[in-house]
Amino acid sequence: MSVRLRFAPSPTGFIHVGSLRTALFNYLFARKHEGKFILRIEDTDQSRFVEGAIENLLSIFDWLGISFDEGPHTGGNFGPYVQSERLDIYRRHIERLVAAKQAYHCFCTPGELEEMRAAQVARGETPMYDRRCRNLDAETARRRIEKGDPYVVRLTVPLEGNVSFSDLVRGDISFQADMIDDQVLLKSDGFPTYHLANVVDDHQMRITHVIRGEEWLTSTPKHILLYQYFGWEIPKFAHLPLLLNADRTKLSKRSADVSVESYRAEGILPEALLNFVALLGWHPTGDREFFSLEELVEEFDMERVRKSGSVFDMTKLRWFNSEYLKKKPDDEYFERVHEQFPNDFLKGNDDAKLKYALSTLRGSAATYKEAAQQIIDVFSPNPEPDAESKELLSHDEGQVFLKSLREILEDIPSENWMEFNMIGDAFKSACKQSGKVAGLKGKQLWQTVRAGLTGQLHGPELTKLVAIWGRERVLSELERHR
Ligand code: GLU
Repeated sequence: MSVRLRFAPSPTGFIHVGSLRTALFNYLFARKHEGKFILRIEDTDQSRFVEGAIENLLSIFDWLGISFDEGPHTGGNFGPYVQSERLDIYRRHIERLVAAKQAYHCFCTPGELEEMRAAQVARGETPMYDRRCRNLDAETARRRIEKGDPYVVRLTVPLEGNVSFSDLVRGDISFQADMIDDQVLLKSDGFPTYHLANVVDDHQMRITHVIRGEEWLTSTPKHILLYQYFGWEIPKFAHLPLLLNADRTKLSKRSADVSVESYRAEGILPEALLNFVALLGWHPTGDREFFSLEELVEEFDMERVRKSGSVFDMTKLRWFNSEYLKKKPDDEYFERVHEQFPNDFLKGNDDAKLKYALSTLRGSAATYKEAAQQIIDVFSPNPEPDAESKELLSHDEGQVFLKSLREILEDIPSENWMEFNMIGDAFKSACKQSGKVAGLKGKQLWQTVRAGLTGQLHGPELTKLVAIWGRERVLSELERHR
């Protein structure tokens, strides 16, 4: 039988990088084993639903080059693929569980539950539903439902024994049944919870492998019980290690930018992002680092998924991106950076000039956005000189140096300023010559040039800057120090 895997996001409006990792591993496993990869939308928590979230999700996966074989957009034999369109299916399954006493109606009000919780906490116990509705007889429950009393349906968890399963990443895992809560399966609004819908759908959609984040591990025993109660075959589970911040706390929205959309907007390339994400918790044989999506399919193996948490290192993502950027053809590179320029900036700078600046500075930016910012900075007026620059220029040698430099540069014919090699060499020798005149050399000499031209001791390579700026601006910056 061929494998069937699914990505089952809740449409909350953005894709967390952890969700992308889950989707990718499911995709890789499905493709590697020539199975199917399915998209299912888990929108049973209506309060979290965000308009346009499904379209956004599809556009991101399209951008990444990850395709689904079945889903709300393409259909398939096991739909509908959106949970809010499957409510009657869940209802039927709930009835089946209740009839077999594997689930029960619970009429406890939010107030009662809160009181129960507070009392348990006060006694130092782990808060859990105390199962007070579990033994209501069927007749009483029926009458209360008819009367219109709000209710939920809960899972009847065994009072003793263990719930065990074997995880493809973590090996044998066992939970003590008495530590498992009588999970709500159907909410008072008539919607199923994640647990019921997830199990019913995984079964009906013939999912063979469930690969998901470790945060779902404690839900799995509840799911196992559901499979057992329904008498269904249990899929294989694989729980992926947590993603961590640099300080090894759980990766959170607050501590890092975690949405795939934000990386895309910033100019991170899909191939860099996929390469980076694939290595979060999985490692190839050997120490190879670069993989295309096709190569990942080829290499992927669940055996090499780690158990321990994986640190999410933004610097590494940016490094991958700069490496992939280097491989882009000039035209494509220019077009993408161009998209990042604000309109106002484009009004004052023609494409030929921008293209020249960009190709001269190419190689040092980690993202398209950063490359655009470098260009914007280069063409902006110099900021106020920093203290070190001021100090350097206040000495006589500095002034003598700049005067001499200006004079030599003024004599370089305009045509020579058009060519990077020509002006670069001419500029360097002008600097050395002026250095001799002023008695400056080495670091002090180059810092003085920098200070004189830009007022800062750090910035792009000087020969490149001079070529990009051209004659007029270089001379006018030097002019200031007269
Ligand atoms: N809807 C869940 C999520 O948002 C799916 C978890 C699972 O794969 O079972 O991640």
